[in-house]
Amino acid sequence: MRLLIMGPPGVGKGTQAVGVAAHYGVPAISTGDIFRANVKEKTELGKEVSRIMAEGGYVPDEVTNAIVADRLTHADAARGWLLDGYPRTAGQVAALDGELEKTAHGIDAVISLVADTEILVDRLLKRAELEGRADDNAETVRKRMVIYTEATDPLLATYRDRGLLVEVDGIGAIDEVAARITSALDAKLG
Ligand code: AMP
Repeated sequence: MRLLIMGPPGVGKGTQAVGVAAHYGVPAISTGDIFRANVKEKTELGKEVSRIMAEGGYVPDEVTNAIVADRLTHADAARGWLLDGYPRTAGQVAALDGELEKTAHGIDAVISLVADTEILVDRLLKRAELEGRADDNAETVRKRMVIYTEATDPLLATYRDRGLLVEVDGIGAIDEVAARITSALDAKLG
């Protein structure tokens, strides 16, 4: 099973990714988690990306693509994966296509978690107050939403054209949304 999960900041991609990946017995690979771990460990990569992340920008494609290409060669990814937060740019879509061409596999489905961006901005601002996440102040929340709308949202049309998109309402309790995702995937993949 090779899946992508996409959606705007704050829609709960990361949470759902973990559950869906466990359901299908594949690793959830989150570029955001990989970057955060590197920032925490103060690796060279971490130093390179910490400022970009704190400001709500995107890490350059060359860096992100290389990390994902490497991660996909790990043994646990041989049977499948769920990519959370990648691809986010047209260049990343092309790079992922290139990686997949080297193997006999393609993407089975792309989960698109849908929600009103106003609701999400509201949620993220509340979370910012409560948790004080570095990339969750009012300015970066808005910046992340704008970048998502400009660079990432248009990619959904690419996957829709390929017949891969599975749209799921992302608003609701975690379990409810999880059930929607697995039933939508079951309906699509049989
Ligand atoms: P996330 O946890 O997926 O929201 O990612 C947190 C941050 O990591 C993002 O705001 C970006 O700064 C960076 N990041 C994660 N994935 C990517 C990606 N595919 N391309 C560029 N930057 C990314």
